[in-house]
Amino acid sequence: MARRRTIGEFDVIARLFAPLARGEPGAYGLTDDAAVLAMPAGRALVVTTDTVVAGVHFLADDPPEDVAWKALAVNLSDLAAMGAAARAYTLAAAFAGDLGWNWMRRFARGLARAQAAHRVALIGGDTVATPGPSTFTITALGAVAGGRALRRSGARPGDAVYVSGTIGDGALGLLARQGKLERLPARHRRALIRRYRRPLPRLALGARLIDAASAAIDVSDGLVADLGHVCETSGVGAVVEVARVPLSPAAAAAVRADNALAATALAGGDDYELAFTAPPSRAAGIARIARALRLPLTMIGRIEAVTGAADGPVRLLGPDGRTIRAPGIGGYRHAWRA
Ligand code: ADP
Ligand code: MG
Repeated sequence: MARRRTIGEFDVIARLFAPLARGEPGAYGLTDDAAVLAMPAGRALVVTTDTVVAGVHFLADDPPEDVAWKALAVNLSDLAAMGAAARAYTLAAAFAGDLGWNWMRRFARGLARAQAAHRVALIGGDTVATPGPSTFTITALGAVAGGRALRRSGARPGDAVYVSGTIGDGALGLLARQGKLERLPARHRRALIRRYRRPLPRLALGARLIDAASAAIDVSDGLVADLGHVCETSGVGAVVEVARVPLSPAAAAAVRADNALAATALAGGDDYELAFTAPPSRAAGIARIARALRLPLTMIGRIEAVTGAADGPVRLLGPDGRTIRAPGIGGYRHAWRA
């Protein structure tokens, strides 16, 4: 009988993950029990964790490079929303027992790409085999000047509401991935799927918004839901003019072909753009940031004092100026049987 070969935990750490720790001396090449990071005086540590689960956040046949990219990107997006500079991350990897070396190698390759793009290093983690679905938990560490982190709580009536980039590509990309946008030209489908699989955390934007924005959040659950979180935390409401919400050429084509997809763009998640608020006096500064970063920053509405709209704190205005009733536009929520 042929001997069954197995891959050991320490092979995975030494051969696949240790190369990703080279940029950070305090990671000790992943050979010690923990990493040691010095913090410059006056800087505060910003910490965030996100988990991705096979079958929930990605599909078993997704390219492992993309799974890894997104697992890191969604964490860095949270740092961006706080205005933090990304520094390092840890990875708790539970690989399904049947994945094999090639999958893990490709996963590590995707991480390498993502961390190079955003200049962070892997500094530690845990590696286990699981009989259940693969699960990857990343904790991202960032730094921000003490007391200066962007919060969700600072939005005030009269502030303008902005979003970066384009909205809806993530959610439409998932539909395209599921084969539900077959009538859309292939190049548009590809563009949407790429945005779904390879989101770009807006770290440079977040850092610059510290001096300009009153509140910020990253759009992960859907624009309406996430702007709603800003409103709840700030104790305000918001009105959004739907026609102002920026769509990519691919998303615009999808909506032209099927108007119902406009709701998907507004409610669906996975954009990883920043939604933020700023007093009107900051408009010129925000336009300068947009030019410097070559990233569209679009004003889509205003913060108001009223919080009592029936569908939640965010009121949507149609092109005719009338309020759009949009129940069920509240974003994705994980839930358990009671
Ligand atoms: P311990 O048993 O002491 O917790 P491990 O044997 O789990 O340590 O890990 C050894 C070293 O490898 C540690 O520095 C740990 O942070 C690192 N490590 C393990 N798995 C990963 C991973 N998936 N990504 C990055 N570092 C890892
Ligand atoms: Mg361990």
